Amino acid sequence: MFYIGCHLSLTGGYLNMGKVAKSIGANAFQYFTKNPRGRSSKEADPADVAALAAFLKEEGFAPPLAHAPYTYNPSSADERIREYTVTSMRGELEFLEALPGSLYNFHPGNHVGAGAEEGIRRTAALLNEIMFEGMSTTVLIETMAGKGTEIGRTFEEVQSIIEQVEPRFRDNVGVCLDTCHVSDGGYDIAGDTDAVVDEFDRVIGLDRLHAIHLNDSKNPLGAHKDRHEKIGDGTIALDGITSIITNPKIMHLPFYLETPNEVEGYAREIAMLREIRKD
Ligand code: FE
Ligand code: FE
Ligand code: ZN
Repeated sequence: MFYIGCHLSLTGGYLNMGKVAKSIGANAFQYFTKNPRGRSSKEADPADVAALAAFLKEEGFAPPLAHAPYTYNPSSADERIREYTVTSMRGELEFLEALPGSLYNFHPGNHVGAGAEEGIRRTAALLNEIMFEGMSTTVLIETMAGKGTEIGRTFEEVQSIIEQVEPRFRDNVGVCLDTCHVSDGGYDIAGDTDAVVDEFDRVIGLDRLHAIHLNDSKNPLGAHKDRHEKIGDGTIALDGITSIITNPKIMHLPFYLETPNEVEGYAREIAMLREIRKD
């Protein structure tokens, strides 16, 4: 089964996202836990959320992927930013219990000069603060492009965060691999998908990989930029995208598009990718 979907807006509510996804041939989707207008999951209508949970089960969707806002910085040393990040992320994880089996993706953030090791330590400490026993959500660390002082560019950095998470929470920690980010980060996922997947397996372990952000990139391998491109129009190109979605070790995972598109553009990309996969 090919699980493919895209980023959708929460503006129309929870059940609406499931319906929009279905209408464009998707069986997966991602959304921001707070939309840019500041509406947050706290204001969600419980009946709407429950209706989405039932819809996803009935339609056989992949787990919904909640993406933490970019305004959070889990590796920040600034007490005010840290406090805001902890409170917000903890609240979102509590909320997500209403959508059982959710994935919750976040950017490990920027160390802002304190060094990667310190940023990694802070991010892991934050996870130990916000996670709780018995939670049904899997928290995903996103692989980053290495722009500025971003941490999480290398698989080794991602793995060191996981290793510093308390063992009692570790089963609920995983990774979301962003194809644009890893290419910008210097991993040749377009040219040699197998080698990058095997490297991920060696350093982190493929059992930790729960989701793929499927994006083309505007920039060349190792550019450390993070500018997403439409599928087939970037440096990963259709050949690279094809080898990613047909790689036998990762093709069972859900793929989420975050390409620069409106809903109609996503519908076209999903149709094109389904044509390649044929399953
Ligand atoms: Fe992201
Ligand atoms: Fe991403
Ligand atoms: Zn990105």
